[in-house]
Amino acid sequence: MPVMTAAVAQIDLAAYRRNLALLSSLGSELLVVVKANGYGHGMVPMAAAARQAGVRWLGVAQLDEALALRAAGDTGSILCWLTNENSDFAAGITADVELTAYSVAELAQIVSTAQKLQRQPAVQLKFDSGLSRGGARNEDWLELVTQANKAERAKLIKVTGVWSHLACADEPEHPENFSQEAKFRQALQVATNAGLQPKWQHLANSAAALALPSARFNLLRCGIASYGLSPIIDQNFDLTPVMTLKSRLLLTKKLASGESVSYGHHFTADREMQLGLVPLGYGDGILRSTSNLAEVQVNGVRCRILGRVCMDQFLVDVTAANAKTGDEVILFGPGKSGEPTATDWAMHGGTINYEIVTQLGGRITWEYHG
Ligand SMILES: *Cc1c(COP(=O)(O)O)cnc(C)c1O
Repeated sequence: MPVMTAAVAQIDLAAYRRNLALLSSLGSELLVVVKANGYGHGMVPMAAAARQAGVRWLGVAQLDEALALRAAGDTGSILCWLTNENSDFAAGITADVELTAYSVAELAQIVSTAQKLQRQPAVQLKFDSGLSRGGARNEDWLELVTQANKAERAKLIKVTGVWSHLACADEPEHPENFSQEAKFRQALQVATNAGLQPKWQHLANSAAALALPSARFNLLRCGIASYGLSPIIDQNFDLTPVMTLKSRLLLTKKLASGESVSYGHHFTADREMQLGLVPLGYGDGILRSTSNLAEVQVNGVRCRILGRVCMDQFLVDVTAANAKTGDEVILFGPGKSGEPTATDWAMHGGTINYEIVTQLGGRITWEYHG
């Protein structure tokens, strides 16, 4: 007997491999970002599929994510970048995770931990070229690269990379991109002058990898594009969305003209309609802000949400879909058969496609194909 689940997130690994091949063809080495549970696709299975496809680097934000990859058996290069001087570097160093130092204090903590463990970890240095998030500011950069060079000459660490992150890459024409790229080139020069020879130099996320060739350097840190979603509005770059989110109608019923639907009665019928109930809600990551706006596909027909999305369920207009209880509901997919995409949901929810897939959870089951 098949287990009844509220919904299934089907992950198309063949599509994932196509996206990885496209990103690999851009001319630089590829680092695939699998943080935040692989943007909601499942970190460990996506990481394993990436390695099988020959991906050299994986990237995560937190040390715990890197350790989870190691615990799942991953033995390749992993870069981690959201740590500080209070992080527990011992586990990361022991597990051969490449660390990122933002500051002299963080570097010192990495070095002293490595000395205690008698290991020589690979460390990358992050320069803040204008995002004003992590990384060393320009006035602190010379000291950071100088200290890193000292530690490297003492054989306490290996400095394997220097990198930065763009603020406006999803707007390829934005002048800040060129300003950040120029500042990054200067920072690389300062690092080289200080005696470092970082093998990996990287600035590009998915948007820059696809749309800003001069920002590619020799490594691309791609998250969203690997999952087949475009970081840039109105351009899809031949990417194939990897996730299809499906459910089934829990019931269908009549709505008479003049009757209203769901909490607050934010939709009122002006004619007789047929309602379909989808057993998913904001408890599963379906944004409440898509109420009355987003569409699903039932029997090949687009059906709009009626009224508010609730915690466990929402209603759709299946009047034109000739629908009955148990019929399949496609919330979003690649969009190749008329179904909505995660990007469509993002537009209705007032957000970006990253958030639509990353927040999924609750009672959804993940299935991997291909
Ligand atoms: C999340 C992240 C990325 C990936 O960004 P995408 O837009 O998903 O490609 C790259 N670099 C850093 C530092 C990140 O935090």
